Amino acid sequence: MSGSSRRVLHLPRPPRVRPPLGAALAALTLVLCGLPASAEPASAEPAAAYDHRRCGNTSGRVLLTLDDWPYDHVERAVETGAYLKERGIRAAFFLINEYASQQPQVARTLRRQGHWVGNHTYSHPHLTTLPEAEARREIRDGVRSTLLRPPFGDYGPRETRIAASLGYRVCTWTVDTLDWENSGGRFPDVATLRARIRDAPAEDKRGGVVLGHLFSNFPDALPGIVDDLRDQGYALCRNTGPTGPVIRDPLRC
Ligand SMILES: [Zn+2]
Repeated sequence: MSGSSRRVLHLPRPPRVRPPLGAALAALTLVLCGLPASAEPASAEPAAAYDHRRCGNTSGRVLLTLDDWPYDHVERAVETGAYLKERGIRAAFFLINEYASQQPQVARTLRRQGHWVGNHTYSHPHLTTLPEAEARREIRDGVRSTLLRPPFGDYGPRETRIAASLGYRVCTWTVDTLDWENSGGRFPDVATLRARIRDAPAEDKRGGVVLGHLFSNFPDALPGIVDDLRDQGYALCRNTGPTGPVIRDPLRC
């Protein structure tokens, strides 16, 4: 090494500007406290005002959701998940944890298939009729997630507050297929469910959330529902691979 280059190496450097200790601590606090408990980076843009009926779906695409549990045929949940994945679709499943906790492979498989699995409480009560401590316990003991679908869509300011304190935002729907209505022991058939979605207002479908259930004819109606929505020019939430318990706002649809 020549003397001149050594001299270059020893040139005095500009003094390093150190942030005052307070600013450094504030930055550290932001890093430690300001991030959600997920590896997902925060969105660069501030989220729009949250619309609980759309669950953070600002994509313009349709989010299909399936609630409760497939009581007669447990495999139906993962079969439905596999079908939707095959069509490139990500759906959201809101499982009752009283059942889901007994068969943890169901939620695990659905997430591996690229779907979201959200909280639908532990035992599916009307939350607004419960004392606060019980309502809190029902949410706390639900499937761990960041989206809460209150059973029966029954919630108010108290439930919203409890949910937020447990890390959840409330998620209902824009299109109710009424697939759960049981008349004389029969659920609405596939053609009826398809027609209800086909005929739903456009503003409820574009960037909307469709409610169906795992125990009704809704899963059997899905092939037709997907065809109809696409024929009508709607896109559905895209399946971009496995998910975790954190469902961010806005949704990655
Ligand atoms: Zn339900």
